[in-house]
Amino acid sequence: MKINSKSRFSLKDLLRRWLWTGQLRQKDCTHRAQVLIQETDLYECRDCLASGDAWFHLRLCMACGYVGCCENSKNKHALTHFEHSTHPIVRSIEPDEDWMWCYADEAFLSPE
Ligand SMILES: [Zn+2]
Ligand SMILES: [Zn+2]
Ligand SMILES: [Zn+2]
Repeated sequence: MKINSKSRFSLKDLLRRWLWTGQLRQKDCTHRAQVLIQETDLYECRDCLASGDAWFHLRLCMACGYVGCCENSKNKHALTHFEHSTHPIVRSIEPDEDWMWCYADEAFLSPE
């Protein structure tokens, strides 16, 4: 079998999608046009810092660059940001992770 080194296929991502959504195949997402920002230098949840809370993992809003904490964190700032802004897609900015999540479709997305 030939392995395509350009492929972004990741077994970890596949497992994550399956655990989170029960889906092995990627769901359709109509919001990819709202992906404007891929990277950030920010590596903190400013809303948690403001209230002195700790966070678990960080998500980057790919529409505006907001960085907020994940749903396993106490304050779920990434989710709150989606509810207020309706910016649908976030990505993980944890080291070695580049998967994306569309809140609107509840879809786990691999980078293009
Ligand atoms: Zn979507
Ligand atoms: Zn937070
Ligand atoms: Zn945003």
